[in-house]
Amino acid sequence: NVLYSSGGHFSMLAPLSAQAQLSNLNRQIVSTLLDFFGGDVALVLDAVELHGSDFCIDTNANLSPLGECWSQLNAKLKAQKERLLREVAVSDIDGYTRVFGPFGTGGVETFCIVCHSEPNQPDGLAKHGIVRPVRTDVLEEAERKCSLCESFEDLSRTIAHAQYLLVRYTQYADQPADKMQGELRWHTVLQAFGIQIWLNDEEELVKRYRDGDCVFRLNQPNFAPVERNGKVVPVIGFRFMPTFTPLESDAEGDGVHIRDMDKMAQDSEGAPYYGVLRMDVDDLGRIFRIGLGVRMSLSRMMTLSRMLTMFFEGYLNRICHHIDPTCKHLYPIYSGGDDLFIVGSWDRIIKLAQEIHHCFHDYTCRNPAITISAGTSLHRKKYPLYQSADDAKGFLDIAKRYTHHDGHAKDAFCFWGATLDWSETMPWLQRWHDWLVEQIRADRSANKEASSRALLFKLMRIAELYYQREMELERRSNWTHEQIECRLRCERWLWRLVYYLSKEYKHLRDELDELSRSLVEDDHIRHLRLLTRWVELSTRGGD
Ligand SMILES: [Zn+2]
Repeated sequence: NVLYSSGGHFSMLAPLSAQAQLSNLNRQIVSTLLDFFGGDVALVLDAVELHGSDFCIDTNANLSPLGECWSQLNAKLKAQKERLLREVAVSDIDGYTRVFGPFGTGGVETFCIVCHSEPNQPDGLAKHGIVRPVRTDVLEEAERKCSLCESFEDLSRTIAHAQYLLVRYTQYADQPADKMQGELRWHTVLQAFGIQIWLNDEEELVKRYRDGDCVFRLNQPNFAPVERNGKVVPVIGFRFMPTFTPLESDAEGDGVHIRDMDKMAQDSEGAPYYGVLRMDVDDLGRIFRIGLGVRMSLSRMMTLSRMLTMFFEGYLNRICHHIDPTCKHLYPIYSGGDDLFIVGSWDRIIKLAQEIHHCFHDYTCRNPAITISAGTSLHRKKYPLYQSADDAKGFLDIAKRYTHHDGHAKDAFCFWGATLDWSETMPWLQRWHDWLVEQIRADRSANKEASSRALLFKLMRIAELYYQREMELERRSNWTHEQIECRLRCERWLWRLVYYLSKEYKHLRDELDELSRSLVEDDHIRHLRLLTRWVELSTRGGD
């Protein structure tokens, strides 16, 4: 009985007699994965015994027996991860070479421009009758891709239109290895495990369906069979999948394709950059370990897992549609389990981060123990995606190290390197960003933009002075960050500059008074640098 399966994890209940097969099964799976991925993808598999008494719930106890079993299982998996592929490596000299190489031929050999794999690597592919060519007959170097990378491009196009998931169980795993053939593609490894899958629209589904196939409807909780051209295809269930894809018509008008990053960057409000967003649930392990307390049961654990998965795999589509109704500015690259990775026009990415946080907060009934953190980065059009993914991950890690004034940790948003709380600072930023942008746009349409631009530059100057002073204090002293902030609050010259603003711009006096007050009294001056940068980018013309 599969209890849970998502985001690269699964758990299942099985009879105790199955335990004897586990190590053999593990070896087989690891070996096949090694053939296809050369160690980039692996699996750890382990089990603990459960007894009837482990399911007892005693609300007077300190520990839940099931929780204890689960901790044991996690400890076993962790230990296995630390010696991944060990069994293969120590089995014999062939196993040693499979793990430690040498791999490929090196030298001037042509490699895939995307994943840097050489042709027909890893060597294990040959055993399964599979080849992995790298296209060399191409005009541009950017097109020099291996068959696996090309198939990922096909997959993303397929996902955009998929309505059904069709799964077919075949018997390959039990048959001699020479039954497979062809090029390595995204689904080839599944075939090696005896599974074929397709993502289809209705027409393709009806054409492909055979008796015995399992059909799931995507993103629609509807079990009704598909009827088309006199054929009836039974649907056994539904699956959520983040299929939101930015599309546009081809120049010839005879089809649609996925918009490229350049266009999404170009279509940002203001500067033509793209943004990357990474988010994940804080302390998920702790939520499972102690969140359910002594009431932990299989059904409670699985409900929690599935509800989280439903948010990231299903509800995320709705949130993206809400922020980007025309499907042109956002592209979720990954979303599942408890985390996500999305790229798109940078202005929508900032809106999206706030909306996801807001929806997640509501979705979890505002439970203060279940929080989410985010990191977003900003990049020029030509900046490589894999690097920007790392940058945003770095920002997410910074958010995870944040401690709030009341002592609670994480639950934060690292916005281009500056970490904020969601509940107070982010709304403050949004409010003054919108107000300043509105002033600049209004002045722009009245052809007197210089006035509000000058205000923005003055604010930038104050932010810069504050920042430089902060750096200076950090260099000069061995004070803590709090002591430095305290010292900065006493810098009178800075406050004079702030108060002077509202005197200078008489027609905006009320708002500027309020802004000055919040900068000084609520210490928001710490975020002025981010605010002015954000406004500047939002109101900038194309590069
Ligand atoms: Zn490749």
